[in-house]
This record gives sequence, C-alpha cells and structure tokens, in this order.
Amino acid sequence: MTTRSSFPGGVHPAAHKALAAEAATEVLPTPDEIHVPLVQHLGAPCKPGVEPRAEVALGDELGNSDAFVSAPIHASISGTVGKLTAVTLPNGCRVRAIPVKASDEQPLSGQDLFDDIFGGPWPTGRFEQYEPKQIVDACRAGGLVGLGGAAFPTHVKLVRNEKRPIDTLLINGCECEPYLTADDRLMVEAPAPVVTGALLAQRATGAESVKICIEDNKPKALESLRRVAGAAGVEVLAVKTKYPQGGERQLVAAVLKREVPIGGLPLDVGAVVVNVGTAAALARAVLRGKPLTHRIVTVTGAGIRRPRNLLVPIGAAYRLLIDYCGGVTEDAARIVSGGPMMGFTLGNLDTPVTKGTSGVTVLTHDEVRKAKETACVRCGRCVDVCPVHLVPTKIALASKAGDLDLAQRYCIAGCIECGCCAYVCPASVPLVQLIRLGKVLLQKAASAKKN
Ligand code: SF4
Ligand code: SF4
Repeated sequence: MTTRSSFPGGVHPAAHKALAAEAATEVLPTPDEIHVPLVQHLGAPCKPGVEPRAEVALGDELGNSDAFVSAPIHASISGTVGKLTAVTLPNGCRVRAIPVKASDEQPLSGQDLFDDIFGGPWPTGRFEQYEPKQIVDACRAGGLVGLGGAAFPTHVKLVRNEKRPIDTLLINGCECEPYLTADDRLMVEAPAPVVTGALLAQRATGAESVKICIEDNKPKALESLRRVAGAAGVEVLAVKTKYPQGGERQLVAAVLKREVPIGGLPLDVGAVVVNVGTAAALARAVLRGKPLTHRIVTVTGAGIRRPRNLLVPIGAAYRLLIDYCGGVTEDAARIVSGGPMMGFTLGNLDTPVTKGTSGVTVLTHDEVRKAKETACVRCGRCVDVCPVHLVPTKIALASKAGDLDLAQRYCIAGCIECGCCAYVCPASVPLVQLIRLGKVLLQKAASAKKN
C-alpha cells in the first residue's frame, strides 16, 4: 500500500543515496580501544558502574542511572576498563566516558558478530507470553534509545499509560536525511528482526495496529520488509519521499492525519513512533537478552574514498570508520556527523560513535562553498517550508540579539532543527545555527537559575 499524502512544508534536497545504498554492511574490525560516553541519550546521564582496571566482556553494563528517563550503557568489546575520561560529542558537548582497551581475544567479530546481532530465527506472533512490562524492562536493561538520531530512551515510549492509550504504532524506516543509507541496508539485509521488534513494541504499547513506513525511494527495502511482514500480518506502507518525512511529527501527520502539538509527543495523539533499527534492537534485547552494543553507520559523501555501511561498536572513534573506508579525498572539506541537513560538523575525529550516530558524511569544497550571507529579503520561503509552522527568521533574529524571551514567544523549543529554512533561504542566513545558539543560551540560563 502507498500513501501519497504528506505533511505540510518540507523540501526535496538531492538524495545522494546511490553512493552507499548498494554497499552491503561490513563489520568494522574490533578497535584497540573504545570510549563509551556516559551520555548518549536524552535524559539523565549514567553513573559509572565499573572501576578502572576491571575486566569486562562484550555486553557487560558499564554505567546506569536511577532516573526513569535514561538508558544504561554497555561494553561493545571485551577488555580492560581505563580511567574515566572526557570526550567531545559531535554537538560540541564535553561528557565523561569510560575507556575500554580491547583484550586479545574477542568473542565475536566479522560475519559472526553480524549474524549474532541480526541473524535468525526471529519468531513472530502476538507475543502474549510476554507481559508488556517484561518487554519494557528488557528494553531499558538493553539500553535502547531511538537509533534514528533522537536518542530518546525507548522504554519511556513503550510504557502503557491508561490515560493516554495508543492506537497506532509506526515503525519508522523513512531515513529521509540525504546521503544516509544505514536503515535502508538494515531493512534490505535483516528485515526479520525489524518485524519481530515491531510486534514486540505493539505488545508493549497495546497499539491496535502497526505500520512499517518506508519512503518510496527505497524499493528494495519495501520489497524485503513486505516479504517478511506480510506473513506476520504487519502492514508496510510506502510514504512520499520528502524531507523531513522521518521526523516523528511529520510521519504522524502524513500517515495518520493527526497533528502532534508543539512541545508534545506522538503519544499525545495516540501514536508511538519507533525507528527500524530500534525495533531490531528491541527484538534482540527481549528475545535474547542482549543489549545495544553496535549499530550500522553509513560512511559516505563525495569526499570519502570508499563509501560504505559499517556495523560499528558504540564508542569507536570516527577516525577508524574513515580510515576503514580508505580515508578522505584531496578535495574533502568538511566531515559531518550525520547527514548535511541535521548533522554536526566534526571538529575532532577522536569523537566516539554513539547510539545516535547514523552516519558520517564527508563533503567536498564544491559542496560546502558558501554563498555569502546577505540581509533577509523577507521572501517568506523559510516560513513556507517549516514543517512545524514556525517563523524561523524571527526566532533566528531574536537568538542573534540574545532576546531569549522573544525567541521563546516565537516557540524556539518547537524547532526540530531540520534545516529546511536554511536550505531554501536565498540570503544564506544561517537560520539553524542561530536557532541552535538560542537554544544553548536558554539551556545556560536555565542551569544558572537552578544553581
Ligand atoms: S525553524 Fe526549525 S523546524 Fe522550522 S524549518 Fe527551520 S530548522 Fe526546521
Ligand atoms: S528565507 Fe531567508 S530571506 Fe527569506 S524570509 Fe526567511 S530568512 Fe529572510
């Protein structure tokens, strides 16, 4: 089934998916060392749960938190724990991290590791043998977060709330960000755990229906999922290719014709959205008791020598991914964590991959050559494309002036940082950067108030 309906606003940037879409997932060789950040999710940071010099095995818990909105972290290799250190995340935040030096013997690597994570059998059914709470608890113990990039702890979404029942579960396979193909490869190569995870999430939330939503520019993923999902009674829906179709609000609007209130969540309108990678990780956490230790990352862009999709241990340095893919080309100009629309320019290649890392895009000088910023011509294009119905230029101006009250009145918190406004601006106003700046200033003001 196909839906041609869509959400308001949005843009159609060049996809550039062909660079890596046909590259079957390869397993990154075990790094000599990883750095596992204590913050990889929205919510409370983890506290370290291991001492320096402790020996840990693949999958052992490294840190956790008592807070409900948080997610534990686990060792993605076997080895020896080092002294707590600090790392810089792609968004520039400095956070504490637990180093682990690899031991000579690793229990799993290469194809064996891939098969252990994604290989079958993956049962289907209504999973009535599991109480919803069991699924939620396994999800939390496994450290699952939204792998689409938002990194919101998944168990929080799956908890049933009698006051706000869920009728529809949307499994998000849109991957609308240009260049990235990690979810596409997962759906092509390992559709079965995605379907099993979808059914487990349905059991946890009590949703009446579940739909796997895939943009119609991914025919192989659609075919692969339909083959497996059809037999399990799960609907697979082709949705229109438009950026940011993979945003939760936008997907709910396109498929269910419901508007998630600004600052609200899909569950406010009876829906839950779970990324396809998260669904696969849920199947593994519940049925095999295995935590989230690895994820698929796309390494792509005209500035990388051999674009690839890699299965990567959480905590591996970006540098290793780039080296594995042959390094950057001579005209490489910028390395972005994620895609060009929502990603962050990487200042340091020792930055570790986190649960929310979906890709690395290396752009060339031609691609990043910046048009000079000029004065806003009040054309209104940024307003037309904003999928959240904001007035980006007003928020950006308020942020630039440091007028945080005004920025809040224009609903800065509702901005999903999709970049559509900056993409269409003929004056090259750095709208998203200014909005992000406003958000940082607001955070600082809030913590100063607390202290
Ligand atoms: S204001 Fe925010 S949500 Fe709206 S288009 Fe710009 S980045 Fe996207
Ligand atoms: S798109 Fe750019 S030039 Fe047009 S109104 Fe928005 S900020 Fe101004």
